[in-house]
Amino acid sequence: MEEALCELSLNGRGGQLYSSCLFCCPSQPVPCLLYQHLACYVPKIYCLGPNLNPQNEELLAQLLLLAPLEWYLCDEDPSAGLAKLEQSNQPSQLCGHVFKVGEPTYSCRECAADPTCVLCMQCFLGSVHKEHRYRMTTSGGGGFCDCGDTEAWKKGPYCQKHEPNISDTSQEDPLAHLSSDMIARTRSIFSIVLKYSVDMLTWEKEDELPSGLEPLERGDTYYCMLFNDEVHTYEQVIYTLQKAVNCTQKEAVSFATTVDRDGRKSVRYGDFQFCEQAKSVIVRNTSRQTKPLRVQVMHSSVVAHQCFALKALGWLSHVIGYSDALRRILCQVGLEKTLEGENSSLVDTLMLCDSKMWKGARNVYHQLLMSSLLMDLKYKKLFAIQFAKNYERLQSDYVKDDHDREFSVTDLSVQMFTVPSLARMLIMEENLMTTIIRTFVDHLRHRDQRGRFQFERYTAQQAFKFRRVQSLIGDLKYVLISRPTEWSDKLREKFLEGFSAFLELLKCMQGMDPVVRQVGQHIEMEPEWEAAFTLQMKLTHIISMMQEWCASDEKVLVEAYKFSLAALTHCHGGFTDGEQPITLSMSGHSVDTIRYCVSQEKVSIHLPVSRLLAGLHVLLSKTEVAYRFPEQLPLSELSPPMLIEHPLRCLVLCAQVHAGMWRRNGFSLVNQIYYYHNVKCRVEMFDKDLIMLQAGASMMDPNHFLMIVLSRFELYHIFSSADYRKRYNRENANKDIIQQNNTLIEEMLHLIMMVVGERFAPGIGMVQSCDEIKREIIHQLCIRPMAHSELVKALPENENKETGMERVIDSVASFKKPGVTGRGLYELRPECAKQFNLYFHHYSRADQSKAEEAQRKLKRQNGEDSALPPPVLPPLCPLFASLVNLLQCDVLLAMLGTVLQWAVEPSGGHWSESMLQRVLHLIGMALLEEQQQLENSIEENDVGFNFTLKISRPGEAPSNTPSILALLETLQNAPHLEVHKDMIRWILKTVAAIKTMRERTTTAPETDAVGQSQEETVRDKDKAERKRKAEMARLRREKIMAQMSEMQRHFINENKELFQQSLEELEASTSASLEHSPTSPDTASVCVGPRRSRPSEKRLVVTCILCQEEQEVREDGRAMVLAAFVQRSTVMSKNRRRPSPNPERYDPLFMHPDLSFGTHTGSCGHIMHSHCWQRYFEAVQAKEQRRQQRLRVHTSYDVENGEFLCPLCECLSNTVIPLLPLTRGSKRYHTATVLQSSDLAILCFPRDPYSSSIKEMLTTFGTATYKIGLKVHPNEQDPRVPIMCWTSCAYTIQSIERLLVDEEKPLFGSLPCRQDDCLQSLIRFSSACWTTSSLPSVQNHFIRLLAVSPSLSCISEPTPFLLLSLGTQVSLVLSYSSVHCQDSSGLNVDSAQQHFLQVVTLAHVVQVLLTSIPAETTMDQETGAGSSEEEAAVCLLYGLLRRHLVSDLYEVTSGWHLWRCVKAGVLPYLRSAALFFHHLNGVPAPPELHGKSSTAYLSYTLSLSEHFHKEYRTTEWCETASCCAFFPRESNRLIDLPDDYSALINQASSFTCPKSGGDKSRAPTLCLVCGTMLCSQSYCCQAELDGEDVGACTAHTFTCGSGVGIFLRVRESQVLFLAGKTKGCFYAPPYLDDYGETDQGLRRGNPLHLCRERYRKIQKLWRQHGITEEIGHAQEANQTLVGIDWQHL
Ligand SMILES: [Zn+2]
Ligand SMILES: [Zn+2]
Ligand SMILES: [Zn+2]
Ligand SMILES: [Zn+2]
Ligand SMILES: [Zn+2]
Ligand SMILES: [Zn+2]
Ligand SMILES: [Zn+2]
Repeated sequence: MEEALCELSLNGRGGQLYSSCLFCCPSQPVPCLLYQHLACYVPKIYCLGPNLNPQNEELLAQLLLLAPLEWYLCDEDPSAGLAKLEQSNQPSQLCGHVFKVGEPTYSCRECAADPTCVLCMQCFLGSVHKEHRYRMTTSGGGGFCDCGDTEAWKKGPYCQKHEPNISDTSQEDPLAHLSSDMIARTRSIFSIVLKYSVDMLTWEKEDELPSGLEPLERGDTYYCMLFNDEVHTYEQVIYTLQKAVNCTQKEAVSFATTVDRDGRKSVRYGDFQFCEQAKSVIVRNTSRQTKPLRVQVMHSSVVAHQCFALKALGWLSHVIGYSDALRRILCQVGLEKTLEGENSSLVDTLMLCDSKMWKGARNVYHQLLMSSLLMDLKYKKLFAIQFAKNYERLQSDYVKDDHDREFSVTDLSVQMFTVPSLARMLIMEENLMTTIIRTFVDHLRHRDQRGRFQFERYTAQQAFKFRRVQSLIGDLKYVLISRPTEWSDKLREKFLEGFSAFLELLKCMQGMDPVVRQVGQHIEMEPEWEAAFTLQMKLTHIISMMQEWCASDEKVLVEAYKFSLAALTHCHGGFTDGEQPITLSMSGHSVDTIRYCVSQEKVSIHLPVSRLLAGLHVLLSKTEVAYRFPEQLPLSELSPPMLIEHPLRCLVLCAQVHAGMWRRNGFSLVNQIYYYHNVKCRVEMFDKDLIMLQAGASMMDPNHFLMIVLSRFELYHIFSSADYRKRYNRENANKDIIQQNNTLIEEMLHLIMMVVGERFAPGIGMVQSCDEIKREIIHQLCIRPMAHSELVKALPENENKETGMERVIDSVASFKKPGVTGRGLYELRPECAKQFNLYFHHYSRADQSKAEEAQRKLKRQNGEDSALPPPVLPPLCPLFASLVNLLQCDVLLAMLGTVLQWAVEPSGGHWSESMLQRVLHLIGMALLEEQQQLENSIEENDVGFNFTLKISRPGEAPSNTPSILALLETLQNAPHLEVHKDMIRWILKTVAAIKTMRERTTTAPETDAVGQSQEETVRDKDKAERKRKAEMARLRREKIMAQMSEMQRHFINENKELFQQSLEELEASTSASLEHSPTSPDTASVCVGPRRSRPSEKRLVVTCILCQEEQEVREDGRAMVLAAFVQRSTVMSKNRRRPSPNPERYDPLFMHPDLSFGTHTGSCGHIMHSHCWQRYFEAVQAKEQRRQQRLRVHTSYDVENGEFLCPLCECLSNTVIPLLPLTRGSKRYHTATVLQSSDLAILCFPRDPYSSSIKEMLTTFGTATYKIGLKVHPNEQDPRVPIMCWTSCAYTIQSIERLLVDEEKPLFGSLPCRQDDCLQSLIRFSSACWTTSSLPSVQNHFIRLLAVSPSLSCISEPTPFLLLSLGTQVSLVLSYSSVHCQDSSGLNVDSAQQHFLQVVTLAHVVQVLLTSIPAETTMDQETGAGSSEEEAAVCLLYGLLRRHLVSDLYEVTSGWHLWRCVKAGVLPYLRSAALFFHHLNGVPAPPELHGKSSTAYLSYTLSLSEHFHKEYRTTEWCETASCCAFFPRESNRLIDLPDDYSALINQASSFTCPKSGGDKSRAPTLCLVCGTMLCSQSYCCQAELDGEDVGACTAHTFTCGSGVGIFLRVRESQVLFLAGKTKGCFYAPPYLDDYGETDQGLRRGNPLHLCRERYRKIQKLWRQHGITEEIGHAQEANQTLVGIDWQHL
């Protein structure tokens, strides 16, 4: 059957044939014909059991099902027809690029209408916004590019590509270009296909098909279909599937992955019974705790049609891409109403079934909606209307569904609601605002008996629903995000309708979650509070936006104000319930209020209705009317005491909590108070409560206001009667109560300051909105300099996530760039410091004390007195103008007097300094107010504010207390108030100044006063000048001192190692040229060969860091060891693709010149006795064992693998290197018995001069190197142990040589001590390590090394000659010691060393000639004749090589060119050799040695001519040449990163998981060593490593970095270091924003650019083999890092 189909379809014109016979049959209508066709073929093509050949299925579907449709559509060959369509198409100006998951999106912070307006990368790069301030984010998938949408952008709506041509008439009907015939055909085919697809996707029967589609023959073939849900975990599903359908774990993982991605997957195919059985197992297994997994047994034909339906929708999407006209037709077809009624179009059907469909089906049709309806501006509007009509139903479905919102059709709301014109149309036509709010309220059903929300005891189910309902708030936000510029009456009406719906919502929140103070016992259960605050937080922006809408139209504002007032009055319906009226009187004033105690009755933090009214009140105050005809405002109905009542209670609650009166109410209340003040909530909570108090106070007699405040603070009695005060002082011995009252008084005074002084909201004071932001920033920076992100966090963000900071920051702060670490900081401009207000309302107590300290310090530095008087305030707006009277009202003066009186006669602690400080501040505020009014008034009569007069008057008659001024004068001399003297002095000075001002204006003629004051100021100035100079001098001195100490500190830091160093004498290792100059004078020293200089032999005495004992390093002494870390390394690898060798059989004797893997040894340089170390390590082991028994936590080091932390510096170590003295020219070996070289097996000479403890350490370190380097079990007998030591030594030398070159440092003298010590110990150890292994095997190694020639090298595969390298030379020299004793040739050690050096060097020269000579270029030759001899020689040699090789080598005639290449190629080797011999033989290095002069030190000139005639094996070597390495080896670098981070995001977004066929990777991660992109942190790409499943990154480290890896997690913008399977840490990425900060997690979205210095720092860490160490330190510093399962990344 299938073959026949194939044949038919492959017969080229199959499509045409079909379409002609299908659709041209005149007797039957097209739909029937097509349905017949589908009924016949769909089940034959799709889903014939588990799909083994998807390509075949794909091909058949295209040819048999889709091609006929295309033929019919075009009425000709579709490839031609569709091309024609595309040509005549005039595409719309919308880009419409649909975002993939993780793709970068850009939004312009200056021009975007709202933050949901985004551009794709391509459009962004071609737009004007590239030069603006933009935000970059990664898309969560879905959504499209808004380029070309004029409503989305305030300016620059088009990129270069989508710029419309002027000739283009975009309003034209796209159908105009199409023939009517074509239109008819398209319409017919689209409607059939769409209908079919909709029917199939919404089909719910498992065993039947819609009429017309019944299959011709029906087999017993079923699928067991598993559906996705968000309840069960991956693990649960995998486990269940393994049980239910008998599959392997791998298959189960793959099933689970598909189910998660597509929403469903058939897990079994077979007869009904077979499938039914699997279903019951799955259901049984998953129904225990939760609802079971959804499984259906479906007939195969149903599944087949559903598959094709998806395919058909994809096809529609594809076809309409050719032409806007086709798109328009599809839109028409989709929205066409059928007979069944209003919401009956196909699109409606799809939407309304959305929550019943599986994920895959939803995705496909959402995509189709986006590419059709949302891309056609006309139909977008019609679709939006349908969407709004269905809104309530869709949301209800969504709330019941359990899939994430991105898989719900409701998620499309953002595409329509954020378009301002659409949103406004929907508000007016469909009453959208009201609909959204009502739907929201309907879904929140938990209420108390007064109709308020009640979240207490709500179930998990309800909590889940509550979370989902919140998305409605998002929709409301979209609708409101752009404010109307013009209002129509209809809009006013509908907006106000929405507004009152919103008030209904707020009414349900007013007073929710009330609390009652707990006395006696602590509360038993923390009450639920988070839900209410979540709601508040989510609504915060909405509330602000509502106010802004109101503000844009005066009529709306006034109406909204009235509504809110009515709502508030309604809420206060039971205002006086159980609250008896009382009368308060004080200082001759009295007021009626109620009896109410916050500490005894219910109080709630949630007062959104009052706060909304407060917000509107401020807006009213800004209107024209408020200035001209305030009587027209709806203020007459206000009852100020009612307005302030609840906000005041809330503020008192906060004060009481601060005073510790609510301790027994637990943390939930503390948290609520915290959020109440928090930047995220305060705008619509704390700030508005304060405003409400200001509004109330401005409409009341200030004395009345203050009395009510006193009463609510429960402080009325203390202040109202002196008798009570006395009794209270006498009786109240209870310290707690006194303490509480003190705090309450402080809080109350602070509140009064805020009510009078907080005038920076426009509408309260005469300020601009930018003044408000400036003030916030100033006060933040008064605490300390801050980074950009810290400031952003401290400022409230608006609905567009903007703080407005950028507009003002430069006027108040200056920016300081960061260094290689840290971040950029803003510092307050000095001139702004005078605006500092110690009692700034947004300071927490901690902020306040930090700011106070900082500002006092600053003042002292500037040589000023330390008083921090209040700043000068802006004037109040008319509606609030009367607030200033609070400062001079009788009740306040009485209160101030009382506190001052207490301060004068302190007794029994009823008084605190903070209280006094606040009183002084208040007095200061009043004085400044008076001063300002005087300055601004033309005539003195205008100034009704006369504070100075009032404070000069003594107290009232009966008690005759002294005046406030008198009290202050007394206090000025009080010894216990030293801190406040400056402030008191400032007050008295100001009082005097005001008096002068008043006198001047009243009595003295003006000129006189001016003259006098001028005189005065001149004198003052003089004094000030002198003082300033003295101060300057003092400051200079201080600065110099500070510089000195800074330098000292810096020096110590720089030379930390030096200071920590416990080696007392190690001159031999450091350059220390000074010391050597007498012994080895100016003549160049030579480190190898017969002419070798004398080594500096000094006793080496070191101190053990553990026992602090000194010890000389001697061969026969106690062993001293260095903590060391041995690791495998590929840092210098030139070939990362070479598979790592089999550790059991690998022969490490020849280190491959591509250095593809090596063993590196490093050390922190700390020395211990071997026995001290052993004891320490045993203790660590024991501790670790105990710990593992107790709790299964990991440590940052792996004790079982011998790891430990250096006891001094906590550096990760895994072994120790013994310290050895200098071997003295191997003299002692001369006394050994001379043997015949044939008798290698016999050993009978004293070959170990070392003490047993040293021998033990030699074995320890040798075995560790062997074990780690080869990744094998330790075996000290293995003959490869010494080889591993030698090669590790050579590798480490080479790595250090490279480091020095990279950092352009000299070869000697520039290494830090720790590296120098490590290198020396390593080399000396390597020269001695053979003594602990079997002599014959070492000698065998030597012979093999010496015999490097093709004829002898049948053992190893790659030609050994090419493997000759530093490793060979090191090994040769070191193994020679073992042979030397038996060498009868008379060669002494020095000559032998020189000989080996020469042999290997020559070999290396040949190597260079064979591999690294580039073709000649015409370069300028140096015309120095100096090296002409060498040039000739090298030519000769090269010629020789070419002759033997025939081809392969370029013809090079220039000796100069060859010589230059050889010199460059050999130099690194020679430098390494110099390092080696320097440490081996202990010959001091010449001080200026670097670069070429190393040859002299090696007593070796590269004079080829000397060696040439020997023709050393060169002919044989040549034959084996093949390019395997290029010399000089370039140092490896980390990969190049793009400057712009979004380029990386873009790269990562197109990266697909390499294992699961085209899926997006969730955590694309870039290897910075080799540039491979990996699919990290995901099941799909786990690999098995040593029998354990590990993530892609960990697996990669083992092939790329032998266990160590450096990655960039692209989505997170985070560097990841990994080492081994269990270690890892995160590291700051090398990308910074313009403010010098990294953005780990990409949360802020500022553009990021590469910081090269930081990247170099990471590279250096890598080259130094410091990654593992860095991880160790990070984990020690942050224990939570230890618990992370790094191997899963
Ligand atoms: Zn675009
Ligand atoms: Zn564009
Ligand atoms: Zn812009
Ligand atoms: Zn010791
Ligand atoms: Zn250390
Ligand atoms: Zn993957
Ligand atoms: Zn890599």
